[in-house]
Amino acid sequence: MTEWNTRTKLVHEGIRRSQYGEMAEALFLTQGFIYPSAEAAEARFISSGKDEFIYARYGNPTTRMFEDRMAAIEGTEDAFACASGMAAINGALTATLKAGDHVVAARQMFGSCLHVLKVLAGFGVEVTLIDGADLENWRAAVREGTKICFFESVSNPGLEVIDIKGVAEIAHAVGAIVVVDNAFASPIFSRAVALGADVVVYSATKHIDGGGRVLGGVICGTKEFIRGPVETYVKHTGGAMSPFHAWVLLSGLQTLDLRVRAQAASAAAVAAAAEGSEKLGRCIYPGLAAHPQYALAMAQMGAGGTMLGLDFAGGKEAAFRFLNALKIVSISNNLGDAKSIATHPATTTHKNLSDEERAVIGITPGLVRISFGIEDTADLVADVMGAIAAA
Ligand SMILES: *Cc1c(COP(=O)(O)O)cnc(C)c1O
Repeated sequence: MTEWNTRTKLVHEGIRRSQYGEMAEALFLTQGFIYPSAEAAEARFISSGKDEFIYARYGNPTTRMFEDRMAAIEGTEDAFACASGMAAINGALTATLKAGDHVVAARQMFGSCLHVLKVLAGFGVEVTLIDGADLENWRAAVREGTKICFFESVSNPGLEVIDIKGVAEIAHAVGAIVVVDNAFASPIFSRAVALGADVVVYSATKHIDGGGRVLGGVICGTKEFIRGPVETYVKHTGGAMSPFHAWVLLSGLQTLDLRVRAQAASAAAVAAAAEGSEKLGRCIYPGLAAHPQYALAMAQMGAGGTMLGLDFAGGKEAAFRFLNALKIVSISNNLGDAKSIATHPATTTHKNLSDEERAVIGITPGLVRISFGIEDTADLVADVMGAIAAA
Protein backbone atom coordinates (compact mmCIF):
# COMPACT_ATOMS: atom_id res chain seq x y z
CA MET A 1 0.00 0.00 0.00
CA THR A 2 1.42 3.38 -1.00
CA GLU A 3 1.15 6.84 0.56
CA TRP A 4 -0.50 8.25 -2.56
CA ASN A 5 -3.76 10.14 -2.37
CA THR A 6 -6.93 8.65 -3.87
CA ARG A 7 -6.78 10.31 -7.30
CA THR A 8 -3.27 8.98 -7.86
CA LYS A 9 -4.20 5.51 -6.63
CA LEU A 10 -7.23 5.46 -8.94
CA VAL A 11 -4.88 5.79 -11.93
CA HIS A 12 -1.79 3.85 -10.88
CA GLU A 13 -2.50 1.33 -8.11
CA GLY A 14 -2.46 -2.35 -8.84
CA ILE A 15 -0.97 -2.21 -12.36
CA ARG A 16 0.74 -5.45 -13.40
CA ARG A 17 2.73 -4.99 -16.57
CA SER A 18 3.67 -7.85 -18.88
CA GLN A 19 7.06 -8.22 -20.58
CA TYR A 20 5.84 -5.74 -23.24
CA GLY A 21 5.67 -2.82 -20.83
CA GLU A 22 2.22 -1.78 -22.08
CA MET A 23 1.00 1.61 -20.77
CA ALA A 24 -2.69 0.73 -20.36
CA GLU A 25 -3.89 -2.13 -18.18
CA ALA A 26 -3.83 -5.29 -20.32
CA LEU A 27 -6.90 -7.44 -20.84
CA PHE A 28 -6.01 -11.06 -20.12
CA LEU A 29 -9.09 -12.62 -21.65
CA THR A 30 -8.20 -16.18 -20.68
CA GLN A 31 -9.96 -18.77 -18.59
CA GLY A 32 -6.92 -20.91 -17.91
CA PHE A 33 -3.14 -20.81 -17.50
CA ILE A 34 -0.42 -23.19 -18.73
CA TYR A 35 2.03 -24.80 -16.32
CA PRO A 36 5.62 -25.48 -17.47
CA SER A 37 5.53 -29.00 -16.01
CA ALA A 38 3.32 -31.48 -14.17
CA GLU A 39 5.28 -30.71 -11.02
CA ALA A 40 4.60 -26.98 -11.45
CA ALA A 41 0.86 -27.68 -11.84
CA GLU A 42 0.89 -29.79 -8.68
CA ALA A 43 2.78 -27.06 -6.79
CA ARG A 44 0.41 -24.31 -7.90
CA PHE A 45 -2.63 -26.19 -6.60
CA ILE A 46 -0.90 -26.44 -3.20
CA SER A 47 -0.16 -22.73 -3.09
CA SER A 48 0.14 -20.08 -5.80
CA GLY A 49 2.46 -17.08 -5.78
CA LYS A 50 1.64 -13.45 -6.57
CA ASP A 51 1.79 -13.82 -10.36
CA GLU A 52 0.53 -17.38 -10.53
CA PHE A 53 -3.05 -18.11 -11.53
CA ILE A 54 -5.05 -21.32 -11.96
CA TYR A 55 -8.44 -20.57 -13.48
CA ALA A 56 -10.39 -17.35 -14.04
CA ARG A 57 -13.06 -18.34 -11.53
CA TYR A 58 -10.28 -18.30 -8.89
CA GLY A 59 -8.40 -15.27 -10.19
CA ASN A 60 -6.99 -13.62 -13.32
CA PRO A 61 -4.30 -10.93 -13.82
CA THR A 62 -6.74 -8.27 -15.06
CA THR A 63 -9.22 -9.03 -12.30
CA ARG A 64 -6.40 -8.97 -9.75
CA MET A 65 -5.40 -5.47 -10.92
CA PHE A 66 -8.97 -4.33 -10.19
CA GLU A 67 -8.95 -6.04 -6.77
CA ASP A 68 -5.62 -4.50 -5.78
CA ARG A 69 -6.72 -1.02 -6.89
CA MET A 70 -10.00 -1.29 -4.97
CA ALA A 71 -8.25 -2.47 -1.79
CA ALA A 72 -5.81 0.45 -2.05
CA ILE A 73 -8.63 2.99 -2.45
CA GLU A 74 -10.78 1.55 0.30
CA GLY A 75 -7.82 1.12 2.68
CA THR A 76 -8.24 -2.62 3.19
CA GLU A 77 -5.59 -5.33 2.94
CA ASP A 78 -7.31 -7.14 0.10
CA ALA A 79 -10.40 -7.35 -2.10
CA PHE A 80 -12.26 -9.99 -4.12
CA ALA A 81 -13.99 -9.10 -7.40
CA CYS A 82 -17.43 -10.57 -8.07
CA ALA A 83 -19.76 -10.88 -11.04
CA SER A 84 -22.15 -8.23 -9.71
CA GLY A 85 -22.90 -6.20 -6.62
CA MET A 86 -25.35 -8.87 -5.52
CA ALA A 87 -22.75 -11.64 -5.99
CA ALA A 88 -20.50 -9.57 -3.69
CA ILE A 89 -23.19 -9.04 -1.03
CA ASN A 90 -24.28 -12.67 -1.19
CA GLY A 91 -20.60 -13.69 -1.03
CA ALA A 92 -19.73 -11.54 1.98
CA LEU A 93 -22.80 -12.66 3.96
CA THR A 94 -23.07 -16.32 2.98
CA ALA A 95 -19.33 -16.97 3.35
CA THR A 96 -19.56 -15.79 6.96
CA LEU A 97 -22.90 -17.18 8.21
CA LYS A 98 -24.25 -20.57 9.14
CA ALA A 99 -27.57 -21.79 10.58
CA GLY A 100 -28.18 -20.42 14.07
CA ASP A 101 -26.13 -17.24 13.52
CA HIS A 102 -27.73 -13.85 14.09
CA VAL A 103 -27.62 -10.83 11.74
CA VAL A 104 -28.82 -7.32 12.49
CA ALA A 105 -29.56 -5.24 9.39
CA ALA A 106 -30.99 -1.82 8.66
CA ARG A 107 -34.39 -2.36 7.03
CA GLN A 108 -33.99 0.55 4.58
CA MET A 109 -31.98 -1.11 1.85
CA PHE A 110 -31.93 -2.28 -1.76
CA GLY A 111 -34.67 -4.83 -2.49
CA SER A 112 -32.25 -7.57 -3.63
CA CYS A 113 -30.21 -7.20 -0.41
CA LEU A 114 -33.42 -7.81 1.55
CA HIS A 115 -33.99 -10.86 -0.65
CA VAL A 116 -30.56 -12.32 0.21
CA LEU A 117 -31.41 -11.90 3.90
CA LYS A 118 -34.73 -13.74 3.29
CA VAL A 119 -32.84 -16.62 1.61
CA LEU A 120 -30.40 -16.81 4.54
CA ALA A 121 -33.33 -16.81 6.99
CA GLY A 122 -34.70 -19.82 5.09
CA PHE A 123 -31.43 -21.64 5.87
CA GLY A 124 -31.75 -20.96 9.59
CA VAL A 125 -29.94 -17.63 9.96
CA GLU A 126 -31.82 -15.35 12.34
CA VAL A 127 -32.29 -11.87 10.83
CA THR A 128 -33.39 -8.82 12.84
CA LEU A 129 -34.37 -5.80 10.71
CA ILE A 130 -34.27 -2.43 12.43
CA ASP A 131 -34.57 1.28 11.73
CA GLY A 132 -30.81 1.76 11.35
CA ALA A 133 -30.74 5.55 11.65
CA ASP A 134 -31.12 5.35 15.45
CA LEU A 135 -28.11 3.82 17.26
CA GLU A 136 -30.39 2.79 20.14
CA ASN A 137 -32.02 0.24 17.83
CA TRP A 138 -28.63 -1.37 17.06
CA ARG A 139 -27.82 -1.45 20.77
CA ALA A 140 -31.13 -3.16 21.54
CA ALA A 141 -30.84 -5.69 18.68
CA VAL A 142 -27.27 -7.04 19.04
CA ARG A 143 -26.42 -9.83 21.46
CA GLU A 144 -23.78 -12.49 22.08
CA GLY A 145 -23.93 -14.60 18.91
CA THR A 146 -24.61 -11.67 16.58
CA LYS A 147 -22.19 -12.32 13.70
CA ILE A 148 -22.86 -9.42 11.32
CA CYS A 149 -24.27 -5.90 11.42
CA PHE A 150 -25.18 -5.02 7.83
CA PHE A 151 -26.38 -1.76 6.28
CA GLU A 152 -26.12 0.71 3.42
CA SER A 153 -24.41 3.87 4.67
CA VAL A 154 -26.48 5.94 2.29
CA SER A 155 -29.58 3.83 1.81
CA ASN A 156 -31.43 3.00 -1.38
CA PRO A 157 -33.65 4.86 -2.11
CA GLY A 158 -34.42 6.76 1.14
CA LEU A 159 -30.94 8.37 1.35
CA GLU A 160 -30.70 7.69 5.06
CA VAL A 161 -27.17 8.05 6.44
CA ILE A 162 -26.10 5.56 9.11
CA ASP A 163 -23.47 6.28 11.75
CA ILE A 164 -20.72 3.81 10.76
CA LYS A 165 -18.50 4.56 13.77
CA GLY A 166 -21.43 4.24 16.18
CA VAL A 167 -22.61 0.91 14.73
CA ALA A 168 -19.03 -0.42 14.66
CA GLU A 169 -18.57 0.26 18.38
CA ILE A 170 -21.83 -1.52 19.20
CA ALA A 171 -21.09 -4.46 16.89
CA HIS A 172 -17.50 -4.95 18.03
CA ALA A 173 -18.57 -4.97 21.69
CA VAL A 174 -20.43 -8.26 21.04
CA GLY A 175 -17.83 -9.65 18.61
CA ALA A 176 -19.86 -9.00 15.44
CA ILE A 177 -18.34 -7.69 12.21
CA VAL A 178 -19.67 -4.66 10.32
CA VAL A 179 -20.48 -5.10 6.63
CA VAL A 180 -21.32 -1.89 4.76
CA ASP A 181 -22.85 -1.75 1.27
CA ASN A 182 -21.43 1.55 0.08
CA ALA A 183 -22.76 1.66 -3.48
CA PHE A 184 -24.54 4.99 -2.94
CA ALA A 185 -21.68 6.77 -1.12
CA SER A 186 -19.18 5.46 -3.72
CA PRO A 187 -15.51 4.90 -2.78
CA ILE A 188 -14.99 8.68 -3.00
CA PHE A 189 -17.31 9.52 -0.09
CA SER A 190 -16.71 6.28 1.83
CA ARG A 191 -14.58 6.45 4.91
CA ALA A 192 -16.19 3.26 6.15
CA VAL A 193 -12.99 1.37 6.98
CA ALA A 194 -11.42 4.35 8.77
CA LEU A 195 -14.66 4.66 10.76
CA GLY A 196 -14.53 1.03 11.89
CA ALA A 197 -16.28 -1.07 9.22
CA ASP A 198 -14.68 -4.50 8.75
CA VAL A 199 -15.98 -5.27 5.28
CA VAL A 200 -17.07 -2.86 2.54
CA VAL A 201 -19.03 -4.14 -0.43
CA TYR A 202 -19.66 -2.30 -3.70
CA SER A 203 -21.79 -2.73 -6.73
CA ALA A 204 -19.10 -1.71 -9.26
CA THR A 205 -21.93 -1.51 -11.80
CA LYS A 206 -22.73 1.93 -10.44
CA HIS A 207 -20.20 4.78 -9.90
CA ILE A 208 -17.12 2.59 -10.46
CA ASP A 209 -18.07 1.74 -14.05
CA GLY A 210 -19.64 5.18 -14.45
CA GLY A 211 -20.60 4.47 -18.03
CA GLY A 212 -23.47 2.07 -17.51
CA ARG A 213 -21.66 -0.72 -19.36
CA VAL A 214 -20.88 -3.79 -17.22
CA LEU A 215 -22.00 -5.55 -14.05
CA GLY A 216 -19.48 -6.00 -11.28
CA GLY A 217 -19.04 -6.15 -7.54
CA VAL A 218 -16.24 -6.22 -5.02
CA ILE A 219 -15.74 -7.25 -1.40
CA CYS A 220 -13.02 -5.31 0.50
CA GLY A 221 -11.64 -6.58 3.83
CA THR A 222 -8.69 -8.10 5.65
CA LYS A 223 -6.43 -10.58 3.85
CA GLU A 224 -7.56 -13.28 6.28
CA PHE A 225 -11.25 -12.67 5.47
CA ILE A 226 -10.87 -12.16 1.71
CA ARG A 227 -8.43 -14.99 0.92
CA GLY A 228 -10.11 -17.22 3.56
CA PRO A 229 -13.91 -17.58 3.65
CA VAL A 230 -14.73 -15.12 0.84
CA GLU A 231 -12.40 -16.53 -1.84
CA THR A 232 -13.29 -20.09 -0.89
CA TYR A 233 -17.02 -19.40 -1.15
CA VAL A 234 -17.04 -17.22 -4.27
CA LYS A 235 -14.56 -19.27 -6.31
CA HIS A 236 -16.46 -22.51 -5.68
CA THR A 237 -19.94 -21.07 -6.22
CA GLY A 238 -19.30 -19.21 -9.47
CA GLY A 239 -19.60 -15.55 -8.54
CA ALA A 240 -16.27 -14.46 -10.07
CA MET A 241 -15.91 -11.29 -12.15
CA SER A 242 -15.24 -11.54 -15.90
CA PRO A 243 -11.71 -10.30 -16.82
CA PHE A 244 -13.33 -8.17 -19.52
CA HIS A 245 -15.50 -6.47 -16.91
CA ALA A 246 -12.47 -5.93 -14.67
CA TRP A 247 -10.72 -4.26 -17.61
CA VAL A 248 -13.69 -1.92 -18.22
CA LEU A 249 -13.92 -1.13 -14.51
CA LEU A 250 -10.19 -0.36 -14.23
CA SER A 251 -10.66 2.34 -16.83
CA GLY A 252 -13.79 3.55 -14.98
CA LEU A 253 -11.80 3.88 -11.76
CA GLN A 254 -9.33 6.28 -13.38
CA THR A 255 -11.99 9.00 -13.64
CA LEU A 256 -14.04 8.06 -10.54
CA ASP A 257 -13.01 10.99 -8.36
CA LEU A 258 -13.52 13.56 -11.14
CA ARG A 259 -16.93 12.16 -12.06
CA VAL A 260 -18.33 11.62 -8.57
CA ARG A 261 -17.39 15.11 -7.36
CA ALA A 262 -18.99 16.69 -10.45
CA GLN A 263 -22.09 14.52 -9.98
CA ALA A 264 -22.37 15.50 -6.31
CA ALA A 265 -22.02 19.20 -7.18
CA SER A 266 -24.98 18.92 -9.58
CA ALA A 267 -27.05 16.95 -7.05
CA ALA A 268 -26.40 19.70 -4.46
CA ALA A 269 -27.32 22.46 -6.93
CA VAL A 270 -30.58 20.78 -7.94
CA ALA A 271 -31.44 20.00 -4.28
CA ALA A 272 -30.97 23.67 -3.37
CA ALA A 273 -33.13 24.78 -6.33
CA ALA A 274 -35.91 22.22 -5.72
CA GLU A 275 -36.12 22.55 -1.94
CA GLY A 276 -39.26 24.45 -0.94
CA SER A 277 -41.16 23.79 -4.19
CA GLU A 278 -44.87 23.51 -3.33
CA LYS A 279 -45.07 20.44 -5.62
CA LEU A 280 -42.86 18.49 -3.21
CA GLY A 281 -43.74 16.87 0.10
CA ARG A 282 -40.06 16.21 0.71
CA CYS A 283 -36.77 17.07 -1.02
CA ILE A 284 -34.37 14.43 0.30
CA TYR A 285 -30.64 15.15 0.03
CA PRO A 286 -28.05 14.42 2.75
CA GLY A 287 -26.30 17.70 1.87
CA LEU A 288 -29.35 19.84 2.77
CA ALA A 289 -29.41 21.19 6.33
CA ALA A 290 -33.03 19.95 6.59
CA HIS A 291 -31.94 16.29 6.11
CA PRO A 292 -32.29 14.40 9.42
CA GLN A 293 -28.66 13.17 9.22
CA TYR A 294 -27.14 16.31 7.66
CA ALA A 295 -24.45 16.71 10.33
CA LEU A 296 -23.57 13.03 10.18
CA ALA A 297 -23.39 13.10 6.36
CA MET A 298 -21.00 16.05 6.45
CA ALA A 299 -18.79 14.44 9.11
CA GLN A 300 -18.86 10.97 7.55
CA MET A 301 -18.77 11.70 3.81
CA GLY A 302 -17.81 15.37 3.54
CA ALA A 303 -20.54 15.84 0.90
CA GLY A 304 -24.18 15.03 0.19
CA GLY A 305 -23.50 12.48 -2.55
CA THR A 306 -24.73 12.03 -6.09
CA MET A 307 -28.33 10.98 -5.36
CA LEU A 308 -31.47 13.04 -4.71
CA GLY A 309 -34.99 12.03 -3.66
CA LEU A 310 -38.02 14.09 -4.70
CA ASP A 311 -41.31 13.11 -3.05
CA PHE A 312 -44.22 14.62 -4.98
CA ALA A 313 -47.20 15.73 -2.93
CA GLY A 314 -49.43 14.70 -5.86
CA GLY A 315 -48.40 11.03 -5.48
CA LYS A 316 -47.76 8.59 -8.34
CA GLU A 317 -49.56 10.72 -10.96
CA ALA A 318 -47.39 13.77 -10.22
CA ALA A 319 -44.25 11.62 -10.10
CA PHE A 320 -45.07 10.15 -13.51
CA ARG A 321 -45.83 13.62 -14.97
CA PHE A 322 -42.41 14.72 -13.67
CA LEU A 323 -40.62 11.69 -15.17
CA ASN A 324 -42.32 12.10 -18.53
CA ALA A 325 -41.41 15.81 -18.68
CA LEU A 326 -37.64 15.25 -18.23
CA LYS A 327 -35.55 15.90 -21.35
CA ILE A 328 -31.95 15.20 -20.29
CA VAL A 329 -32.50 12.86 -17.36
CA SER A 330 -33.42 9.36 -18.60
CA ILE A 331 -36.01 7.10 -16.97
CA SER A 332 -34.06 4.00 -15.98
CA ASN A 333 -33.07 2.11 -12.84
CA ASN A 334 -29.28 2.16 -12.77
CA LEU A 335 -27.34 4.83 -10.90
CA GLY A 336 -23.85 6.31 -10.78
CA ASP A 337 -23.80 6.61 -14.59
CA ALA A 338 -22.28 9.59 -16.46
CA LYS A 339 -25.82 10.07 -17.77
CA SER A 340 -28.43 11.33 -15.29
CA ILE A 341 -31.14 8.80 -14.43
CA ALA A 342 -34.52 9.06 -12.68
CA THR A 343 -36.29 6.09 -11.09
CA HIS A 344 -39.74 5.56 -9.57
CA PRO A 345 -38.83 3.00 -6.85
CA ALA A 346 -42.39 2.02 -5.86
CA THR A 347 -43.19 0.68 -9.35
CA THR A 348 -39.71 -0.60 -10.32
CA THR A 349 -36.74 -1.34 -7.99
CA HIS A 350 -38.87 -1.81 -4.86
CA LYS A 351 -41.99 -3.18 -6.60
CA ASN A 352 -41.61 -6.61 -4.94
CA LEU A 353 -42.12 -5.22 -1.44
CA SER A 354 -45.62 -5.04 0.05
CA ASP A 355 -47.31 -1.64 0.51
CA GLU A 356 -46.56 -1.81 4.26
CA GLU A 357 -42.91 -2.76 3.70
CA ARG A 358 -42.54 0.21 1.35
CA ALA A 359 -44.32 2.61 3.70
CA VAL A 360 -42.11 1.69 6.66
CA ILE A 361 -38.94 2.54 4.71
CA GLY A 362 -40.32 5.77 3.25
CA ILE A 363 -40.97 4.63 -0.33
CA THR A 364 -44.12 6.59 -1.03
CA PRO A 365 -46.01 6.53 -4.35
CA GLY A 366 -44.73 10.07 -5.03
CA LEU A 367 -41.02 9.32 -4.54
CA VAL A 368 -38.61 9.74 -7.46
CA ARG A 369 -34.89 8.96 -7.08
CA ILE A 370 -32.43 10.85 -9.28
CA SER A 371 -28.84 9.82 -9.92
CA PHE A 372 -26.91 12.80 -11.26
CA GLY A 373 -24.54 12.35 -14.17
CA ILE A 374 -21.72 14.54 -15.45
CA GLU A 375 -23.80 16.76 -17.75
CA ASP A 376 -23.62 20.55 -17.27
CA THR A 377 -25.01 21.57 -13.87
CA ALA A 378 -27.09 24.49 -15.20
CA ASP A 379 -28.67 22.22 -17.83
CA LEU A 380 -29.58 19.68 -15.14
CA VAL A 381 -31.08 22.33 -12.86
CA ALA A 382 -33.18 23.63 -15.78
CA ASP A 383 -34.31 20.12 -16.78
CA VAL A 384 -35.35 19.06 -13.26
CA MET A 385 -36.97 22.39 -12.36
CA GLY A 386 -38.88 22.41 -15.67
CA ALA A 387 -40.18 18.90 -15.00
CA ILE A 388 -41.14 19.82 -11.41
CA ALA A 389 -43.20 22.69 -12.84
CA ALA A 390 -44.90 20.20 -15.20
CA ALA A 391 -45.69 17.80 -12.32
C1 LIG B 1 -27.31 -1.79 -7.37
C2 LIG B 1 -27.12 -2.07 -5.96
C3 LIG B 1 -26.78 -3.37 -5.55
C4 LIG B 1 -26.67 -4.51 -6.51
O1 LIG B 1 -25.66 -4.36 -7.43
P1 LIG B 1 -25.65 -5.12 -8.86
O2 LIG B 1 -24.33 -4.78 -9.44
O3 LIG B 1 -26.81 -4.61 -9.64
O4 LIG B 1 -25.79 -6.59 -8.56
C5 LIG B 1 -26.61 -3.57 -4.20
N1 LIG B 1 -26.74 -2.58 -3.30
C6 LIG B 1 -27.05 -1.32 -3.67
C7 LIG B 1 -27.17 -0.27 -2.63
C8 LIG B 1 -27.24 -1.03 -5.00
O5 LIG B 1 -27.56 0.22 -5.36
